[in-house]
Amino acid sequence: MTELPVIHFDCLHFYGDRPCKPNKELGVFCGNCSYYEKDESITEEFPPVPAAVPHDLTDRYTKIIIVKLDAAGDVLRTTSILPSLKEKFTDSNITWITKERSYELLKDNDMIDEIYFTTDELSHVFNNEFDIAINLDSGTESCQIMNLITSKYYYGYTIVNGKPYPANTAANEWFMMGVNDAVKKANKKSYHKIIHEICCLEYEGSEPYIYLTPENRRHAAELGKQHGIVKFNSFILINLGGGSRWQYKKWTSAGYINLADILSEKYPDTVIGIIAGDEDREFYSDISAELKLLKRDNIVFWGTENSMEDFICIVSLANEVFTSDSLCFHIATALGKYTVVIVGPTSNTELDVFGNGKVVYSEKVDCLCCYLNTCPKTINCMNTLEADEISGLFGANR
Ligand code: SF4
Ligand code: SF4
Repeated sequence: MTELPVIHFDCLHFYGDRPCKPNKELGVFCGNCSYYEKDESITEEFPPVPAAVPHDLTDRYTKIIIVKLDAAGDVLRTTSILPSLKEKFTDSNITWITKERSYELLKDNDMIDEIYFTTDELSHVFNNEFDIAINLDSGTESCQIMNLITSKYYYGYTIVNGKPYPANTAANEWFMMGVNDAVKKANKKSYHKIIHEICCLEYEGSEPYIYLTPENRRHAAELGKQHGIVKFNSFILINLGGGSRWQYKKWTSAGYINLADILSEKYPDTVIGIIAGDEDREFYSDISAELKLLKRDNIVFWGTENSMEDFICIVSLANEVFTSDSLCFHIATALGKYTVVIVGPTSNTELDVFGNGKVVYSEKVDCLCCYLNTCPKTINCMNTLEADEISGLFGANR
């Protein structure tokens, strides 16, 4: 079990769910930091983190509650915990508290019995008594919710003196990864293994999961028909962009254009689909304009305005998916798709394609997993990835 080093939870700079500014900019951490400023409003001591107590409830009906609010991709990847919970607690009821945006990703998962939103009236949930409460996110809102839950066992994070705090020592390691970039960078475990460890569960490779209803399948087929993909033998989906939080989460325009060009020429019987989220509207529009100049009838444009249901359905039609570390990645893996994901400033070791695809990162830079929102480097983690090499990773599912 990871021991916490000296942490100044009562520092005015300390957030608890992300690195403080001095850690981010200067690499210092609490034990050797001269930027400590006491928050005078915190007068109570922070108690030692309680030792992790593995649950021992397998022989009876078990009420479990999971708090995982956002982001949508994070919510989806967290569903990999469900098969392990259901295997251990065969007679159990699982409640999940989340945000509306993630509903589509969870609503048909038959391992979840009840879903509530943070905007719902939750007093009946807080008046209920659970056996196991799980909150895997050290964000203040999630921790405040965890604090209101009554349970026999708690796994993950809660609030102490108004600050996010590990509920027990099994959550220390992920907590440190959240507040100290150097620890995050040193991590070699996948997210799925980490969350199992936090919950004192054996990790045996369980995967995130989206269940497609017959209605979803019909809707997907209809979308495929509308976009004329049925006449092709195969479908490679290229998801452009990766949101606005990290500049180099997404590849270069030239990279995406070259990849679509190479694949559409190499595989004329394969349709190359171009899609993006609404945050990447402009990026999508510039790249689409260039691709349209190629006049290839096997490049199809899916736009940026798809609802969550449409997005899931479109990914479900693909044989192979190319994406950044984004919601599309988590949807593709949850649907069991062959997935190639490019990663730069975020953690590549946390990602898992479950033996069906590849996690690609640049071997020409030594600064990966920096978690920097912007980056001044001219030779960087994204412009050193070659479309030629990446194109060779496709065609496996033909
Ligand atoms: S690293 Fe320094 S500034 Fe940041 S929370 Fe710790 S003591 Fe405060
Ligand atoms: S510091 Fe390195 S990994 Fe981070 S964004 Fe810049 S080039 Fe990419």
